[in-house]
Order: sequence, then C-alpha cells, then structure tokens
Amino acid sequence: MGPGLDFVDLPSLSAAVHDCRRCPLGHSRTKAVPGVGPGDARIMIVGEAPGQNEDLQGEPFVGAAGKLLDQLLRGIGLSRGEVFITNILKCRPPGNRDPLPAEAEACSPYLEQQLRLIKPEVVLVLGRHALGRLLPGYESISRLHGKLVVKDGVSYIPVYHPAAALYNSFLMGPLEQDFKAVKAHLDRVEERRQVVAAATVPAAKPEEQLTLFG
Ligand code: URA
Repeated sequence: MGPGLDFVDLPSLSAAVHDCRRCPLGHSRTKAVPGVGPGDARIMIVGEAPGQNEDLQGEPFVGAAGKLLDQLLRGIGLSRGEVFITNILKCRPPGNRDPLPAEAEACSPYLEQQLRLIKPEVVLVLGRHALGRLLPGYESISRLHGKLVVKDGVSYIPVYHPAAALYNSFLMGPLEQDFKAVKAHLDRVEERRQVVAAATVPAAKPEEQLTLFG
C-alpha cells in the first residue's frame, strides 16, 4: 500500500476513490463506486465490479442483481441499510468485462482499508472473481459456497453471485441456503457475545448483596 492510503474513516476513503487514477479505469468511468453502508455494519458484501447502472449512479448493486440481493437480505431479516456493500473494483470495466489482475491489484488497498475500518463479523464474497481475489488458492465457488472460511482473523462466507443466479435459476436455491448459513453465523456470533457479556457483569459488592437479599 502506498503512502496516503491509510484512511482515518470511510468518508475520507470514499473521497480518495472518487479522485483515484491508480489504473486506467479511473479515466473511463462515469462515477466511481466506493461502496455504501454504515461504518459499524456486521456484514460486508463484496461483489466484482460496478456495471452500467452503478457507474451512472455511483452506488453498488442498483440493477437487477441488486434487487435480488435486497430480497436475499430481507429473507434473513436484514435490510440494505444495515450492511456495507462494495466491490473488488471501485470503477466499471468497459463493457462489463472481467476485472484485470492489474486493476484488482491497484484497487486492493481500498478494500483492505474498508475491512480494517469496518471490522465486519462476516464478509460475504459474491461469486468467483471476488473469491479468487479475497481467498486466492482456496477451492472453487461451487465447492466453497455457504462455508465459513477464517483467514487472517476475518470470517468470510463465499456465496454464488446474484447475477449468476439470475441467469441460472438452479443456483437460486443454493443461494438462499447460503444466506441462511450467513444468518446462522451471525446468530452464533451474537450468542457468544451474550455469553461473554454475562460472564463479565461485575459482581455485586457485599453491601449491594445485603440490600438485594437482606
Ligand atoms: N453490481 C455491482 O455493484 N457489483 C457486481 O458485482 C454486480 C453488479
């Protein structure tokens, strides 16, 4: 990571993405798409790259795949406003072609910093491009989808890309199951948090115990 890419907060990171010229996509984009969502989100969702609608609006997942994503989130009791959504690339590749390795490399400090600032309880890795980038050397999406992978202290759950499920309806069932795995993971994290909180409630002082029981 180069100097000046150690951001203090998400707004300064977003501002840098809007000015970014680290690769040629910075010159061909209409709008950069840094990502949206609260800084304390429990879930971070990472897609591939902005498409045409995202490039025009500056927001990730605003097209058909975004609608399906919203529906899957609602299915596990979450709304878009509760999650942080971003992509491997913050700018649209011309014609929606696959991201080039050099583009993903140039853009990677932004995602690393978003992970560091948000510290999500789980990162949803959407599709094979995000998987290849975030968990290189791991199994394919067809083997790994719905499974929890912990790497460098970060919990990841790879899932099929919603756009893939729109083209291949047989992926819809597995995708819904994968979101249930995400919910189960979040529930486990919450249970553990409550156990820890209960164990760390300060013991009542002797005089308080007297007033309670005597
Ligand atoms: N929209 C995005 O923002 N990312 C994708 O990967 C697909 C659609």
